[in-house]
Amino acid sequence: MYLTYFNGEWHEGNVPLYGAMDHSVWLGSSVFDGARAMRGKLPDLRPHLERVVRSADKLGLRCPLSVDEMEALVREGVAKFPADAELYVRPLVFASAGFLIPEPEKTGFALTLFDAPLPAFTGFSACLSTLRRPEPDMAPTDAKASALYANSTKAMREAKERGFDQAIMLDAQGNVAEFASSNLFLVTEEGKVVTPVDNGTFLAGITRARVIALLGKVGIEVEQRSVKPAELGTAREIFSTGNYGKVTPCVRYEGRTLEAGPVARQARELYLAFVEGC
Ligand code: PMP
Repeated sequence: MYLTYFNGEWHEGNVPLYGAMDHSVWLGSSVFDGARAMRGKLPDLRPHLERVVRSADKLGLRCPLSVDEMEALVREGVAKFPADAELYVRPLVFASAGFLIPEPEKTGFALTLFDAPLPAFTGFSACLSTLRRPEPDMAPTDAKASALYANSTKAMREAKERGFDQAIMLDAQGNVAEFASSNLFLVTEEGKVVTPVDNGTFLAGITRARVIALLGKVGIEVEQRSVKPAELGTAREIFSTGNYGKVTPCVRYEGRTLEAGPVARQARELYLAFVEGC
């Protein structure tokens, strides 16, 4: 079931938001975020809501609701589902007016909640994309902007055509950036846990930061540095972090099978324990 808050009311189903003349439809000025409600727990909800306000600002939009107002709405919406529901929570902020440049005062807001069970720890396959992440001086990479996803979805479509579930994207310098829709961690041959350093070209996610902190607390240091694509070919483990799947192992990279390994499993368990404490 979809439940959408829009224009002061809750609606069931996929509610139409846009008109053909809206700036967000025409020139793509919308931003969004994604969080999860897990059996009534809302892990890192506020950072996700804070990020949507920040993302809007970066595109010259003014989010019409405060973080507190959005949080209250999320709680109101979650209460409309069964207590044990696994939900996805998606705030969307979009420009409705403006010629070429969006008018900040005419910014719309919608919040959609829908059933989305947490994916199992079974793993996914990934290939190296030919598409790269733009540099911060090429695109608004500091916003979770819908328009940036034309790039990610093209990478994912190409991956699917090649028989893979996901795509790994490099940055313009040729270093590993992230998966097309989540962040990337790997465990090196020597057993070191590594994730690409935040260089502004990819979305350094909220789940990524949470997982780095959780692993740190149990004495597993995550090294944040440049990662060469060749390291993907020798890694013991590769896994993803993101609000949708939380921690998910990559079990095939190009032609090579990988273990749904102990570090990814531990990171997932630590995350789920963190959720219980929220
Ligand atoms: N990178 C991209 C391109 C994403 O779409 C996402 C999902 N939001 C992430 C990384 C992970 O970010 P987060 O953990 O904040 O959801």
